[in-house]
Amino acid sequence: MCQRDQYFVLILGLDNAGKTTFLEQTKTKSNKNYQGMNLAKITSTVGLNIGKIDVGTSRLNFWDLGGQEELQSLWDKYYVESHAVIFIVDSSDRDRIEESRDAFEKMVMNDNLAGVPLMLLANKQDLDGCLKVTEVKTIFNSPLQCMGQRESWVQAVSALRGDGVQEGIDWLVEAIK
Ligand code: GDP
Repeated sequence: MCQRDQYFVLILGLDNAGKTTFLEQTKTKSNKNYQGMNLAKITSTVGLNIGKIDVGTSRLNFWDLGGQEELQSLWDKYYVESHAVIFIVDSSDRDRIEESRDAFEKMVMNDNLAGVPLMLLANKQDLDGCLKVTEVKTIFNSPLQCMGQRESWVQAVSALRGDGVQEGIDWLVEAIK
């Protein structure tokens, strides 16, 4: 078996943002034989979901951390180990968009993540009335501006349908190398 380059990728975001659904969708897309969870039956992450996918010579190990407020304090324990971060936003939840932006801001300011590539996913784009990716970019603009030198990308996705997921992973694999 060939030796793969190992990378660790954190999947962060508020509870209910779609982290677990994204991870399952990613595993399904990367492995046609993967019999994953029923996406429609996934409930919010409490604890840690782990997944891995192989892309070319790279192995991406994902950690999907719980997003509830009391669990957010655990995020930074994982920062030093991670090679990239995926931050997922529920674009349909206007009531919690500021809370999501604040959690994102706190995360990007953490020194242990300095220079780590970061992808912001504007999720649930399939829902009517959701914030469009340009609106999400505007709301997250100030933390995006002050996060220093690193590669970053904002991607519109529907984790449930799988739209935009492959594009996001393609960007991540290039950015991480
Ligand atoms: P987590 O708490 O961040 O892990 O979020 P989950 O993956 O458990 O998703 C929370 C809820 O949002 C579930 O009911 C999912 O089916 C739903 N969900 C996740 N992604 C999408 C999406 O792209 N579109 C829609 N309509 N629902 C989604």
